[in-house]
Amino acid sequence: MFVSKNLSVNEKGHLTAGGIDTVELAKEYGTPLYVMDEDLIREHCRSFKQSIDKYYGGEGLACYASKAFCCRAMCKIMLEEGMGLDVVSEGELYTALSVGFPPERICFHGNNKTDSEIAFALEKGVGRIIVDNIFELERLNALAEKTGLTANIMYRIKPGIDAHTHNFIMTGQIDSKFGFALETGEAFEAVKKAIECSHINLVGLHCHIGSQIFDIDPFVRAAEVMLTFIAKIRDELKFEVKELNLGGGFGIKYTEEDAPVAYDRYMEKVSEKVKEVCAEKNIALPFILIEPGRSVAAPAGITLYTVGGRKVIPNIRTYISVDGGMGDNPRYALYQSKYDFEVANKAAEPKTDVVTVAGKCCETGDLLGEGVSVQHVEVGDTLAVLATGAYNYSMSSNYNRIPKPAVVMIKGGESRVVVKRETLDDVIRNDLL
Ligand SMILES: *Cc1c(COP(=O)(O)O)cnc(C)c1O
Repeated sequence: MFVSKNLSVNEKGHLTAGGIDTVELAKEYGTPLYVMDEDLIREHCRSFKQSIDKYYGGEGLACYASKAFCCRAMCKIMLEEGMGLDVVSEGELYTALSVGFPPERICFHGNNKTDSEIAFALEKGVGRIIVDNIFELERLNALAEKTGLTANIMYRIKPGIDAHTHNFIMTGQIDSKFGFALETGEAFEAVKKAIECSHINLVGLHCHIGSQIFDIDPFVRAAEVMLTFIAKIRDELKFEVKELNLGGGFGIKYTEEDAPVAYDRYMEKVSEKVKEVCAEKNIALPFILIEPGRSVAAPAGITLYTVGGRKVIPNIRTYISVDGGMGDNPRYALYQSKYDFEVANKAAEPKTDVVTVAGKCCETGDLLGEGVSVQHVEVGDTLAVLATGAYNYSMSSNYNRIPKPAVVMIKGGESRVVVKRETLDDVIRNDLL
């Protein structure tokens, strides 16, 4: 069994993704290669959207956090699926608008948006600008005033819940670069200020409590804390906050160690809590937004490499060198993230090797995994890394002037390139003498 449900083995013993032979994909498009399964991406979108309809009653929007994997084809899929979209830069916003993504369904995040980014978002009519701090509020209000526009904003709130791991803590979150703190009164003062601003329309509050979260509890607690704050604003400022954005962070299965929750379970439990607190405090049910990123993209992606070397260091370890590495997947170097590996051309064989997978960069830390279990690996094999659909391509770099790999999208048994492989000319494109 593989970590992602679209993976299987065919009669040749080759790994397949979305029914397509990955060894053939590597041959046709070259390696390294990102492969994304459009059908699975769409299925994830639908499960998040349906969870809102089913458990909350339709009053909400699932926004894909595009930082997980952003390109024009992905934005177009999100458009077609009726999703909203999170962006955190002019670049992501520009990509979304380039495929005709409706600006009113876009949330613009970031803890230090530049004046040019704020102006661009205002001019394009971005639906919700998620304001991170008071300086941003002032700049945004001044700019809106100058241009005669009104900015629809949400405030990013630190609800005092930190859930980046398998458990969560109710303190410590105050030490974050993102948002306004609740417990110090900073958030309340900021709300007062936003209400007074002439060109600001405070439509809602936002929180995002972490990533790769497997518990439902922290989401439920966050919803409770945020709604309690909304009630306080209603009581003390006579102001109705209409929208509640509960962020993303839903965990996915990278290896057998991970036990993700079915995505709709989050919405089921959160909806119960939201309805309960709203009834208790006598506030209208807010419009709910959620922001899945990793959970939409990660399980839909794999990366294919060609093995170029096998170095056995007796009694120490065996290095397998591949034709990519930290340039296309920096997550192991950054956070020792674990992945499952398969020799794509020997996927039916038992995993008899334990190896360290090294990239081709001039960096000792350029590894994709250590002590990983895999079929017997030889030079020339195609090595697949699973669940690489999020925070791989989007975090890639040209370190060592290595051109970025292509992204191939598969759909209904067909493949197509959605991001071209960079060429050597691309590498020197912006260089001047
Ligand atoms: C990163 C991020 C997300 C998505 O997180 P995932 O763990 O990829 O689901 C959602 N909202 C905000 C504000 C984020 O920064």
